Amino acid sequence: MNRRSLMKSVGFGIAAGTLGIASRGDETLANEYAKATKGLPPLKITNVKAILTAPEGIRLCVVKVETSEPGLYGLGCATFNQRPLPVVVAVDEYLSPFAKGRDADNIEDMWQNAYTSSYWRNGPVLNNALSGLDQALWDIKGKRANMPVYQLLGGKCRFAVDCYTHCSGQDLSRIEASVRRGLERGFRYIRIQRGGYGSPHLSKEAGYKEAGFALKSDSTMEVRPYVEGTVEMFGHVRSTFGPEVELLHDIHERIPPIEAINLVKRLEPYRPFFIEDPFAPEDNGYFKLLRQQTSVPIAMGELFNNPHEWTGLICERLIDFIRVHISQVGGLSVARKIATLCEWFNVRSAWHGPGDVSPVGHAANAHLDLAIPNFGIQESVRFSDRTREVFSGCPTVKNGYMYVNEAPGFGVDIDEKLAAKFPLPEHPGYWRPVRRSDGTAVRP
Ligand code: MG
Repeated sequence: MNRRSLMKSVGFGIAAGTLGIASRGDETLANEYAKATKGLPPLKITNVKAILTAPEGIRLCVVKVETSEPGLYGLGCATFNQRPLPVVVAVDEYLSPFAKGRDADNIEDMWQNAYTSSYWRNGPVLNNALSGLDQALWDIKGKRANMPVYQLLGGKCRFAVDCYTHCSGQDLSRIEASVRRGLERGFRYIRIQRGGYGSPHLSKEAGYKEAGFALKSDSTMEVRPYVEGTVEMFGHVRSTFGPEVELLHDIHERIPPIEAINLVKRLEPYRPFFIEDPFAPEDNGYFKLLRQQTSVPIAMGELFNNPHEWTGLICERLIDFIRVHISQVGGLSVARKIATLCEWFNVRSAWHGPGDVSPVGHAANAHLDLAIPNFGIQESVRFSDRTREVFSGCPTVKNGYMYVNEAPGFGVDIDEKLAAKFPLPEHPGYWRPVRRSDGTAVRP
């Protein structure tokens, strides 16, 4: 008898658990379980491996943890779109030999020891590898308990996960049309951007290109057109769609901190739901100054890797939404602790959820969203049919709400043979440079 059927036979799990306890009294279950499991070897990790796939050209990395119980495995997200190959090495060459033979049940113990197994820590590559292992162990735990992971985290605080969608365009009429489509799809929260992803590249001036400095393919972005264009966009969208729609915007750290403070103040009359990443992580010290100038809600943190980057901002009440990318901070075990810290300071969650999070990672975001009281909002993506073929059980979005697959664990599986048919694209994935007109590099 394998472990899952054993647990079911003694009344654990959704099907028999709660009803079993109610009908059979509290006397026997624990004893029966202890007796039944006596002598069984603990569930051991037998292999940890990274799987790369790119069904939509985005470099997704998922970690698969296999166990001593045939057929019982877990999946975790380790997607670092800009540096996928070092993550594979960190998983296959370092974490796998570290984890093999260890107990799959003790997630926290594994996390603590794997975290320090490199001695130096808190970087994006190792955090993603750690996240893959960590989330896979939560997936296994859910399968063993015969429950979705959100149940292991305390159960639902809400029926589904409220999401925002991305709306953008190069000019006001395109932005307006994009917002209209978002509202028609049922979203109540809309992120508006003028131009491409993150910040617009509005400048036509690119003196550095004429001078032969840098490459022709580099992008150019100037402060003034971006700032004025963003204020104009907010005015137009607010006056067109009225006071009720929630509007979000991402500054994406691309302007000097004092310009970001001035911009956020100018957006205050349009009541943004939040403004994201006004500063780069290197400029965390500016948040105190921003708070003194405006009460616009602030979301921060998609580039954070290190606890020193978020603990101060949370405990000093300098941000309103924590926006970390869960695999970049080391996995679900870390994110739920961040959520708990945030709860005591009334900071809400807004986990990073773009296309470069695997469906397993989106599911992890959503399971945590369901279970924490201080959920704020979730960024959502539309999975293509191809992605859904590779990853069965993806979360679904309807009327602006995300729903998880209720199967045990995260509810997402991978077809490895199909995944192998979508290798990484030729471009290695780095961010292309963005520059000011004189060629100066712009963050991020
Ligand atoms: Mg962002």
